[in-house]
Amino acid sequence: MTITPLMPVYPRCGVRPVRGEGAYLFGEDGQQFLDFASGIAVNALGHGHPVLVKAIADQAATLMHVSNLYGSPQGEHLAQRLADNTFADTVFFTNSGAEAVECAIKTARRYHFANGNPQRNTLITFDTAFHGRTLGTISATNQSKMRDGFEPLLPGFTYATFNDLEGALGLIDDNTAGFLVEPIQGEGGIRQATPEFLQGLRKACDEHGLLLVLDEVQCGYGRTGKFFAHELYGITPDIMAVAKGIGGGFPLGACLATEEAAKGMVAGTHGSTYGGNPLAMAAGEAVLDVMLADGFLENVTKMGDRLRQGLEQMIPNHDHLFDSVRGTGLMLGLKLKSDSRAFVAFARDEHNLLLVSAGENVVRILPPLVIDESHIAECIEKLSAAARVYVPASDD
Ligand SMILES: *Cc1c(COP(=O)(O)O)cnc(C)c1O
Repeated sequence: MTITPLMPVYPRCGVRPVRGEGAYLFGEDGQQFLDFASGIAVNALGHGHPVLVKAIADQAATLMHVSNLYGSPQGEHLAQRLADNTFADTVFFTNSGAEAVECAIKTARRYHFANGNPQRNTLITFDTAFHGRTLGTISATNQSKMRDGFEPLLPGFTYATFNDLEGALGLIDDNTAGFLVEPIQGEGGIRQATPEFLQGLRKACDEHGLLLVLDEVQCGYGRTGKFFAHELYGITPDIMAVAKGIGGGFPLGACLATEEAAKGMVAGTHGSTYGGNPLAMAAGEAVLDVMLADGFLENVTKMGDRLRQGLEQMIPNHDHLFDSVRGTGLMLGLKLKSDSRAFVAFARDEHNLLLVSAGENVVRILPPLVIDESHIAECIEKLSAAARVYVPASDD
């Protein structure tokens, strides 16, 4: 037998973390890494944050899981807090980002069904989008690397070009349910929607009775210095998928919606065995306690500006390698002039700096949201040191 016990769907690297502390990870042999990947934008509070650790430990000892057959004081409380701090009136809790997007897709279809327009079942989505790995969410992207061999996929999606408003509006027909879009594409390469694009989609939704469904699984939850990225655009969605940072490392996601958009989601239409269990809710409460405290989001913006400045100052010294900086807050991307995956591996293996590669040869820089200036200085130092000696492969 040559297959590994862990299904070999990930090309895993040699770093094998066994412990974390703040912005640092420690490997099996004690090596220390500066973690500016944060489990792909998940560990918003860093590793081992005392508020999150205590909340999970206390709740585990009190009540872990009961199923959604019973009343949920824990779920009601967290849903109310999310409603109080967002556009939403109602929340469905999931265990992952893909499930949050699935719930968003179902909510959008069901809205038009409830309005007597079941033929309005198609969401317009965008190239280089990433919405997850379920059959439904891979159907919502046109990236063949995620779709090949898994056909037949789910009907009900058409694909437009990201940031091309006219192109997207041109796809609207009698079957259109709305748009599904990331305000800032993560996997796609830290590609930000332009204000005209996102505001134009909102306007088209209002004019045509369509739904604006945002996927803020990666760009939401404080990552940009706003609680949600759409706040940067002065618009609100009708439905929004959230995950990653929401549990700070505990598997949790959520689908948020307005009362109007959720009008079809009545008893019996959707469900999840684990979704919103007391343990997950305790993690979600702890993350909100920290993130909504005075000054937290302001500090994300401030640290984001510092980090961006540091990156921009570094670029001219290594302009054979670095092209430009993109992104907002602590969701930053460093565009390379060569393969980003090879450089991420080099920074990791030779300089103990953890980053994530993304589309368009962008290196994603996604530190915990609790970093301070010393971590930024250390990151820039490690990046510069790596860039000084790094030689891109000639066939890049
Ligand atoms: C990570 C991600 C998802 C999928 O989340 P999972 O928890 O892996 O299912 C969906 N959308 C976006 C934008 C993401 O970054």
